[in-house]
Amino acid sequence: MLAGGSACSGASGLEIVHLDMDCFFAAVEVLDDPRLADRPVVVGGTGARGVVASASYLARVAGVRSAMPTATARRLCPDAAFLPGRFDRYRSVSAALRSILTDVTPLVEPVALDEAYLDVSGAHRRSGPSCEIAAGLRLRVRRELGLDCAVGVGRTKLVAKLASKAAKPVVGPAGVEPGPGVVVVPAADELAFVSRHPVRALPGVGPKTAERLGRYGISAVGDLAAVSDESLERLLGASLGRQVHRLARGDDTRPVVAVRAARSIGHEETFDRDIRDLSALERHVRAAAERVASRCTDGAVVARTVTVKVRLADFSTVTRSRTLSSPTASAAVVAGVATALLRELAPRAGVRLVGVQVSGLADGSRPRVEQLELFAEPPCRSAAPPGAHGPGTSTRVAVAAVADAIRRRYGPRAIAAAADAVAPAPTRPPLPGAVPVTCPPEACGPAACVVGPPALRENGAVGPRGQRSGQAAPLEDVTLYSPGPGGV
Ligand SMILES: [Mg+2]
Repeated sequence: MLAGGSACSGASGLEIVHLDMDCFFAAVEVLDDPRLADRPVVVGGTGARGVVASASYLARVAGVRSAMPTATARRLCPDAAFLPGRFDRYRSVSAALRSILTDVTPLVEPVALDEAYLDVSGAHRRSGPSCEIAAGLRLRVRRELGLDCAVGVGRTKLVAKLASKAAKPVVGPAGVEPGPGVVVVPAADELAFVSRHPVRALPGVGPKTAERLGRYGISAVGDLAAVSDESLERLLGASLGRQVHRLARGDDTRPVVAVRAARSIGHEETFDRDIRDLSALERHVRAAAERVASRCTDGAVVARTVTVKVRLADFSTVTRSRTLSSPTASAAVVAGVATALLRELAPRAGVRLVGVQVSGLADGSRPRVEQLELFAEPPCRSAAPPGAHGPGTSTRVAVAAVADAIRRRYGPRAIAAAADAVAPAPTRPPLPGAVPVTCPPEACGPAACVVGPPALRENGAVGPRGQRSGQAAPLEDVTLYSPGPGGV
């Protein structure tokens, strides 16, 4: 049972806050296009093999869930707007969210684009008790991003995460019940709170483990806590058994880790139909490489190793990597290495997925010398003065930097290599109104680019427009969990 009311007092020692955006990708789509406000919205792969990444509450009422095949979602909710997703836009909103969170404390651990833990133990003098911080965050996210979120407060990460889940709207056959928005679980009540959850609520317990536990009559976290350490270790293995047993008893010492630097950056694409044509695969690999390089530039990192992944029709996966003599964020270099690796792999069977990943990341803000020897073009005259883009850069690297800037401003499909622009990727619609632009002959010969107008919904702004979800609890409310006879 959840009891209402402001309950900051008596909630001391609750230093972990978990914030989770509601239906993040779908909510951003509604924010940017208010015509979608009254329609169910599903974001994810729109092709035959697509999977749902995010569904609005209206779509969830119809039974649509994340990770469900899009084909199933279409059957359940044929009137929904099915959108392919704009991950550059989601990343930009996520960056704005991150800056709100780091205003409160530098101890922010992002878990995903739409989810983070905060350790607020050092923030009380400036921002008040944890529950006030939580309610304030929810209010700021709503006012500054125009989006809803749920916030949980507890003594540990596990409790804070389950509390934010309890703060969310509830989807039932009759519709959507607004959630409390913020839930605070006092330390004295946390065992009762955690023990009512299904075992799947614990990190490390997936569907197979839950099924195995279910065969022994263990379905709730409270059942787990009653089983002996030894029995659980026999059932689940020493490591998982110990971890699960500890968490079930409220023993969660995982700290909030503020800096979790990315170890790799990647992009994958699953095709509607298997592709056998190598030149078509090269186009997809080049496009993936350009997106990856663009994200390196955004994150001010350079990468030393490029990996290409190919999944064949029979689901077997092969990868090939190359480590460069010096790290790079150049789209031309990453794309050149990636297509060379693809040719080495020379897949003979149909391919269902290709991916490009870069790793060995380093700080890209320090001066460096670009890797040029593999893919440097013969010198050609440029409108820019020699060395304008830094020492050692070639015209091709400079062109790649300009292309990255255009993509950041106008979207990932605003500019492409001419060879790719002639035959656009089959899974993506062509950019409306694209205009072929021939580069000045003094730059790099007759190479042509395609430049499109800014996509209407890729304005890059985080607007204050309100989102019409109708499911939000009043922003100033904080709900204190108190154990009772009902479920969570
Ligand atoms: Mg979320």
